[in-house]
Amino acid sequence: MEATAEKLLAWYDRAARELPWRVPPGSASRPDPYRIWLSEVMLQQTTVAAVLGYFETFVTRWPTVADLAAAPDAEVMAAWAGLGYYARARNLLACARVVAGPLGDRFPDTEAGLRALPGIGPYTAAAIAAIAFDRPAVVMDGNVERVMARLFAVETPLPAAKPRLHGLAATLTPALRPGDYAQGVMDLGATVCTPRAPACGRCPWGAACRGRALGIAAELPRRVVKPARPVRRGIAYLALQEGAVLVETRPERGLLGGMLGLPCGAWSEGEARPGPPFAADWRPTGLEVRHTFTHFHLILSIETAWVPAGFAPPVGWFRKVTPALEAALPTVMRKALKLGLSAGDCRAVTMPAKTG
Ligand code: SF4
Repeated sequence: MEATAEKLLAWYDRAARELPWRVPPGSASRPDPYRIWLSEVMLQQTTVAAVLGYFETFVTRWPTVADLAAAPDAEVMAAWAGLGYYARARNLLACARVVAGPLGDRFPDTEAGLRALPGIGPYTAAAIAAIAFDRPAVVMDGNVERVMARLFAVETPLPAAKPRLHGLAATLTPALRPGDYAQGVMDLGATVCTPRAPACGRCPWGAACRGRALGIAAELPRRVVKPARPVRRGIAYLALQEGAVLVETRPERGLLGGMLGLPCGAWSEGEARPGPPFAADWRPTGLEVRHTFTHFHLILSIETAWVPAGFAPPVGWFRKVTPALEAALPTVMRKALKLGLSAGDCRAVTMPAKTG
């Protein structure tokens, strides 16, 4: 028994997930490249469930790539807050402006053309080329790698196995309906060939799967054990003035670049290094925020200071504490603000309840 694209496509025709950026399997019309691109950029490093609400917000506020390109940076960054990996939001805007400007509102329809755009790497280019333009591109994400490793019983650990898995995936990619095939393999990985407990009895490739036959499917793909993430420490400074807090735009380059944040000292391994935004009566609260980034764990301790009305800070500006401010902050900064405001001498500044 052989694993074939036809079997997978027949399964996809029955079992495709309904997603707001997709068209149904076998549809004569192609999906909107803008929606495919937006969904793929949002889905990098996160799940469909986490993306759905953000996707609806973006396409409601900015229905076309031209609308997004014309949006103020700060509004887009605020709408992205919470999705993480903020360099992607900056690249999203840069890409929208290239497509809406020099490219005349048209996304390139080849992998090579797509890869020339900001923020589009090999995976995203292949996904857009396949799904939006029905090109026979080999789309490799974590789901597809897992399916291929199991189907062909590849025991070489990741990441060394990637080229082999790509080659094996290429042998299955069909010339006919490659877009549906790409989405079908993604769906198979997300709903049937899941990381811990593959539901092989429901799999269209069950009879052909070597990993299943050998009884090792759930152990694949093997991975090189990663070294533990280091721990960095820093201090978030919560300056308070008449119901407002001091915020600043973080430098464009670096982590959380271009996002709003509380002023922070440098983040470093070992002891937290003081780096207040200005001299004041900074008081440690004894509270800490813990947050995990891709490459390190962060522990931010929180210090507060009250400053008099009329004081003009040398960095940033004071903003009223509102749900809109909360929504515009990346997750770690939102946690720091909420925790800081809960400290004993900050309770006069409270976060109003959300309405509506
Ligand atoms: Fe995955 Fe099982 Fe299907 Fe093999 S048979 S591809 S392990 S779900």
